[in-house]
Amino acid sequence: MRMSQLFVQTLREAPTEASLSGYQFLLRGGFIRPLTTGNYSFLPLGAQTRRKIETMVRQSMDAIGGQEATFPMVQPLTLWQESGRWDQLDTPPVHFRDRSQREVVMAFSHKEAVLSMACNIVQSYRQLPVLLYQIWRPFRDEGRTWGGLLGAQETLVVDGYSLHADQANLEKFSRLVQERFAGIFAGCGLAIVNVAAEMEEGGAVKARSMVWPSKAGREVLARCRDCGYAADQDIVRAGKTSPPPEPMRPMEDVETPECKSIPNLARFLSIPEARTAKALFLVAYREGQGDDFIFVVVRGDTDLNEAKLKRVLKAKTVGPATEAEIRSVGAEPGYGSPVGLEGLTVVVDDLIPQSPNLVAGANRPGYHTLNVNYGRDYQAAIVADITLVRDGDPCPECGAALEVEQGVQMAGITEEGDGYSRAMNATYLDQAGKTQPIVMGHYRLYADRLLAAVAETHHDAHGLVWPVPVAPYGVYLMTLGKYSEAADAVAERLYADLGAAGVDVLYDDRDERAGVKFNDADLLGIPLRVVIGERGLKTGQVELKRRHQAEVETIPTDGLVPYVKDFLNTWPGPVS
Ligand SMILES: [Zn+2]
Repeated sequence: MRMSQLFVQTLREAPTEASLSGYQFLLRGGFIRPLTTGNYSFLPLGAQTRRKIETMVRQSMDAIGGQEATFPMVQPLTLWQESGRWDQLDTPPVHFRDRSQREVVMAFSHKEAVLSMACNIVQSYRQLPVLLYQIWRPFRDEGRTWGGLLGAQETLVVDGYSLHADQANLEKFSRLVQERFAGIFAGCGLAIVNVAAEMEEGGAVKARSMVWPSKAGREVLARCRDCGYAADQDIVRAGKTSPPPEPMRPMEDVETPECKSIPNLARFLSIPEARTAKALFLVAYREGQGDDFIFVVVRGDTDLNEAKLKRVLKAKTVGPATEAEIRSVGAEPGYGSPVGLEGLTVVVDDLIPQSPNLVAGANRPGYHTLNVNYGRDYQAAIVADITLVRDGDPCPECGAALEVEQGVQMAGITEEGDGYSRAMNATYLDQAGKTQPIVMGHYRLYADRLLAAVAETHHDAHGLVWPVPVAPYGVYLMTLGKYSEAADAVAERLYADLGAAGVDVLYDDRDERAGVKFNDADLLGIPLRVVIGERGLKTGQVELKRRHQAEVETIPTDGLVPYVKDFLNTWPGPVS
C-alpha cells in the first residue's frame, strides 16, 4: 500500500475523551474513529489489522478441523423461545417486528441457528464431532460504554460451535480450543489468565474465561499466585477467616442516633465493622413463584454479591425493597434486625454463624441491639457464601492469599452440554441406533478486544509497537531527503520485490520531510522500518530499524528481501 493513496489522517494530539494510551494511538494513527460513543468505524489501517487477526484465527481453527460458516444475524424470536434461552436471559437481544409482522431478534450468538441446521444434517454419530466457526460482528446494547474500543457495542468476534456425541468428547475438545486461543494470545504477546467463569448446580465448571488483567476491564476475578487458581468473583469459592470463639452475651438495646450506616455505627460504638451485622432488604423474583421478600444478613465488614445470592435463591432477579415494603414486615429501614421477624425468608452469609455477639439493628429507629447471636436469637432459611471476595481471602485450593483484580474478557469457552439440543430436538443416532441429544460447546474470541489490548500493552511514547502477527504491515518503506530519481527507483524496486515475496509493505511515497515520515512510522508501529538514504544509495545499502529496538543497522540492498522474510517468519523475537 502506498501512503499517498492510503485513506488516513494521522493526528498529533489524541481526542480529549481518550484515556487509555493504546486507544489514543489507535485514534491518532487513523486505525479507528468513533462514529458515536462506543461505536467505531475501522479505517483501512484498522481493517487491515483486523484481517491479520482473522488470518491467525482461521489458521488456528482450521488446524483442529474447524470449518468456517456463516449464520444470519436476524432470526425468528420463536427459535430463541424454542431453545428456552429467551426466558433465561437477563437482558434479551435487540428485537423488533419485521414488515411481515414477525417478531425477530438481532442475535448475539448462534446456538439455536447451529442446532437448527444440525437437526437437518447430523443423523449419525459418524458425523460427529464437528467444529463450525464464524467471524462476525454482534451488536449488544450494553447501556454504558467503557474502555474505548475494548468496550465497543458492535465488535468483531470469532464464534465457534462444536457438536459432539457425548460430554467427555466435548470436554476434551474444549481444552483443545482453549489451547488454540492461548496460542493466539501468546503470539500477540498478551498475558492471559484462565478463569473459572460459570458453574453447574453440582459445582462443575461449565464455562471458562480467558481474561486479560487490566484496570480498564469490568470483569472482577480472584486469583491465587501460588497455585494458579482463578475464578470470577461471582463463583469464586474463597475461604473465610473465622473470628476466635467467645461466650454468647445477653442481648441489650442501646441508643444509636443517626447510625443508619455501618461506618457511622462502628464509629459511634468504637467497634470494628467486623463486630456488626448488616441487614439488607431485597425482593427476589422467582419463575413461577413471583416476588418474595428476602432479609439478608452479612457481616458489617463484608459486601453482598448479588450474583451469589441470586444463585442460592434460584431467583431470576434480585432488587432492593422499598421503605414501605420494609415497614410492612415490621422492620425499620436503617435499623433492621432479623430478631423477632416472622413470615419472611432470611438468608445469612456463612460467616455470620461463626461471628458471635454482633451489633444488629433493633427494628426501631435510633436503636441497635448488642450481642445478637445467630442460632440463639434468630434462624435463617439459607446459610451460604453470599459476599464479595476480598483481597487476602484464603485460596480454596491452597490457602494462600487471593488477589482480587479487574480484567477484560478476551475469550470464553462454554460447555453447553445437551440442554438446548434436548429443547430443540437436535439428535443423532448412536452406535446402537439409539436417538441421543447432540452435545454442544461454544467458543468465543473477542478479536477487536484483542486488537485493543495489544495496543494497550505494545506501545511506547511515540506510538504503537505491533507484534508481527497483528501488525497491519510488516515493513514501513521510505526514502530520505529530497526527491531523487535514483532513490525513487530503488524504493519502487524494493516495494515490488517485497510484495512479490508476499510481504505486506506500507510504502511512504509522500513528498514529506524525513521527520514527518519517521513520526508516522513510529506512530503506526509497523515492526520493520526500511530507509533508503542518499549515502546508502552510493554504497548499495539500506537502513533498517526494528520498531521495538533503538539501534539502526545497515544491510546490502540486495539482501533485503530474505532478511525481511526471515525477520517476519522467526517472530516472536525478543520484544523489549
Ligand atoms: Zn491457591
